[in-house]
Amino acid sequence: MGDHHRTDCNEALRELYVFLDGELTEERRSVIARHLDDCNPCLEVFDFEAELRLVIQQKCREKVPPELRQRIEETLRSLSTAPDQPPR
Ligand SMILES: [Zn+2]
Repeated sequence: MGDHHRTDCNEALRELYVFLDGELTEERRSVIARHLDDCNPCLEVFDFEAELRLVIQQKCREKVPPELRQRIEETLRSLSTAPDQPPR
């Protein structure tokens, strides 16, 4: 694990949200998937985002466990310093 990952990480994280929306091309998907494969920090972000989406989807039907909600709030707080992508 070296610094050569850094640029990839920024790019991967930026495309992560597009990835989760299923709007990436297959080529970009495999690039991101491969990056997540050997980059733990990005994989954790991906896991969280994927989980968050599931929670949001289920929110109408089920109550969110307070423990999970706290985790989401904490992560959202820590993410708020990152540059946001405006919705297209
Ligand atoms: Zn990464």
